[in-house]
Amino acid sequence: MQRERSAIEPGRPGRQSVNWEIESRPGRAGDEERMKLFEQLASRRNWPEEERIVLDQVRRVADEVIAPNAARYDETGDYPRESVDALMALGLNGIFVPAAYGGTPMSYALYLECVKIVAAACASTGVIYATNFNGVKPLVDFGTEEQKQRLLPRITEGGIGAIAITEQTAGSDATGMQTRFTPDGDGIIINGSKTFISNGNVAELIFLFGKWSEIDDRKAAISALIVEKGTPGLTVLRTEKKMGHRAAPTVALSFEDCRVPRANLIGEPGSGLETLLVALNKSRPSMAAHALGIARAAFDDIVSYTNERKQSGRKVIDFQGNQFLIAELASELAMTELWLDYVGGLVDSGAPDFGLEASIAKLRASDLAMRMATDAVQMHGGYGYCSDYRVERLMRDAKVTQIWEGTNQIHRQHIGRSFRIK
Ligand SMILES: Cc1cc2nc3c(=O)[nH]c(=O)nc-3n(C[C@H](O)[C@H](O)[C@H](O)COP(=O)(O)OP(=O)(O)OC[C@H]3O[C@@H](n4cnc5c(N)ncnc54)[C@H](O)[C@@H]3O)c2cc1C
Repeated sequence: MQRERSAIEPGRPGRQSVNWEIESRPGRAGDEERMKLFEQLASRRNWPEEERIVLDQVRRVADEVIAPNAARYDETGDYPRESVDALMALGLNGIFVPAAYGGTPMSYALYLECVKIVAAACASTGVIYATNFNGVKPLVDFGTEEQKQRLLPRITEGGIGAIAITEQTAGSDATGMQTRFTPDGDGIIINGSKTFISNGNVAELIFLFGKWSEIDDRKAAISALIVEKGTPGLTVLRTEKKMGHRAAPTVALSFEDCRVPRANLIGEPGSGLETLLVALNKSRPSMAAHALGIARAAFDDIVSYTNERKQSGRKVIDFQGNQFLIAELASELAMTELWLDYVGGLVDSGAPDFGLEASIAKLRASDLAMRMATDAVQMHGGYGYCSDYRVERLMRDAKVTQIWEGTNQIHRQHIGRSFRIK
């Protein structure tokens, strides 16, 4: 899927189906044997039967519903209702919710693969689904039995989750947040505001971080609770107009004397920082998967276009400089996919600490997405700069992957600092 629109002007390069095949040994006997690099990688995954069925369904919905609508939603900026509903109809929220609360739990690796497939079809829909997980998983991990019984069925029925950390003056340093949680009998009063909250205006449940009013310490005061949709005092202040991910809502939220039941507090007052760090460790690979979806789509378009477009009587892929570029991008993509699989395996095996590995996945996948999308535009020449080719959208969508879930400077610092000998 290379073109955004069906009307193709005469003389413009047409659309060509995806070709993942890479010649193994040009000029030798057996040329017809081509190595299907990414197909081989995928086929080695050995998914259990029930997970393979889920992946087939997600691919079908991505091909039939999500990808065909992606350009339209990007252009209008409308919430991609049809695409999200199609995912929810598959029961895809259930894969990260325990059976006791209405889910059909499957592996974290499967979840990452689903994000990748959806993001490759439409980055906006991909991030809505990934954020949904990021907002709900901490409830699964840290919620009480009562909270999970009460709240999770709304998610398995197709409700969307959000996670609210960032504030106008607290971005990379989340400990600077000023939203206050004040205990009030059997309730908690929330006052403050959050900015850049994905899904914030559509979320059934918002996993919200703030500071406990009775604890006077920058870090020890951080606490977490759930705000349910429609709670009085919760308002959407603004919807951001963004460079990319235009169909995925990003909003500023205000909490004005917003009262939630004390029963919605996650853990103890002051236990929020630990919850936040654990939540980020699981959400970062998810955003890496999302970025890799964008990278795959851009690589796909590079391969299609350079095999089709001719200049000086040759296919653009036949110029050696371009082959070198494609080789670099293909190998980088293969290695990053493998690293993400490794991180998924760590999580599924119950590894106690995978923060650094998650950071590396987020950093490399998002840098690759940006590079791949930029090179995809370059390989399309002037057409790549025009919005009737998908690569223009992919480049706009890719940029934020280097910014959210911790900017890549922060990840570089985190990774580099880990090697410091104390
Ligand atoms: C589209 C979108 C969706 C988002 N979704 C959510 C969401 O759902 N929930 C949520 O809570 N947040 C969300 N965010 C917020 C996002 O996580 C923050 O934007 C990000 O953490 C950076 O914070 P900031 O924008 O305040 O930048 P700042 O922290 O102000 O950073 C500005 C610049 O300074 C650099 N910098 C800052 N500190 C350091 C340092 N210590 N060392 C080196 N460089 C540094 C940064 O790398 C950056 O280049 C979203 C953001 C966007 C754009």
